[in-house]
Amino acid sequence: MKPQKPRRALLIVNSRARRGAESIDAVKDVLTAAHIRLEEASTKEHENLSELISRRARDVDLAIIGGGDGTLNAAAAGLVFTGLPLGVLPLGTANDFARTLGIPPDPVQAAEIIARGTPKFIDLGEVNGHLFFNVASIGFSAELAGELTEHAKKRFGTLGYGIVAARILMRSRLFKAFVDHDDSTETIRTMQISVGNGRHYGGGMTVEETATADDGWLDVYSLEVDHWWRLLRLLPSLRRGTQGQWDDVRAFKTTELTIRTSSPRPVNTDGELSTWTPAHFRIRPKSVLVYAPEDES
Ligand SMILES: [Mg+2]
Repeated sequence: MKPQKPRRALLIVNSRARRGAESIDAVKDVLTAAHIRLEEASTKEHENLSELISRRARDVDLAIIGGGDGTLNAAAAGLVFTGLPLGVLPLGTANDFARTLGIPPDPVQAAEIIARGTPKFIDLGEVNGHLFFNVASIGFSAELAGELTEHAKKRFGTLGYGIVAARILMRSRLFKAFVDHDDSTETIRTMQISVGNGRHYGGGMTVEETATADDGWLDVYSLEVDHWWRLLRLLPSLRRGTQGQWDDVRAFKTTELTIRTSSPRPVNTDGELSTWTPAHFRIRPKSVLVYAPEDES
C-alpha cells in the first residue's frame, strides 16, 4: 500500500442507528493507522446532519458517516453543498446504498475501503428538491415507511419490514397516476411506483439488477398487479431486480419524470416520507464523491 498523506475526517455516527451504539474502536484504529485524523461530531439541538456537515466542512477533508440509509439521506444535502467526499460505515438496519456500491457490511472492512480507496462520483436522485441515494416510491412502500416505527425496525430488523409489509399488502388498492416522461404521458393504475438511483433498497430489494448509482439513469418501475397474491408471485423478482420481465410491471429508464395523482400521495425517499405528489423527479449526475471498492459497477 502506498503511503497516504494525512487527511482530516469528520466522523459522525448516528447513535440511534441499529448498530450505532456499538463500539467502533476497531474502525477508528483502521482509520488512524491510515493517517486519517478523526474529528468526532454530533448534531446540536435543532441541527440536522446536513447543517452539521456544512458547519464543519472547512476543517476537514472528508466526512465519515456511520448509520443506515436514512442517516445517509439526512447527510445528502450537506455532502452536495460542501463537496466533501463520503466514507460510509454501514451501521443501520438497511444498508442498501453500501450494498449498491459493494461496500462490505462489516464496519471494519468498510473502514478499510475509506482508508485505501479512491473516492468516485455517484449520482443522486431528486424529487421535489429532496435528494435520495437509493429509491423514491409512491404507493405501497410509502405506506410501509409510514407504518414502520423505529421500535419495529430495532426489534425485528429486516423481518420487521416483512411483517408490516404483509399487513399493508392485504389492504392495498391500485391508484391512478399520470406519468410524464420523455415527451409522453402514461395513465396507469398501479400499486406502487418506484424511482431508483442505485440498485438496492428497502432491506434487500432491487430496483433493477443492472442499475448502478453512477450510470446517469433513474430506473423506474410500476407494479400494476390487480391482486395482492400476484404481487407475492413477483417477490423473488423484486428481490433480484428482474421484475421488469413480468407483464404487469412497467419498467423504464429515464433522467426526469413527473408523477401526478388525483389526490396528494406521500413520497418515500430512502425510507422516510419527505414530500407529496405531484412529484417531479430528476437525476443529479455525479453529485457526491464516495469511497467505494474499485472493482464494483
Ligand atoms: Mg442509476
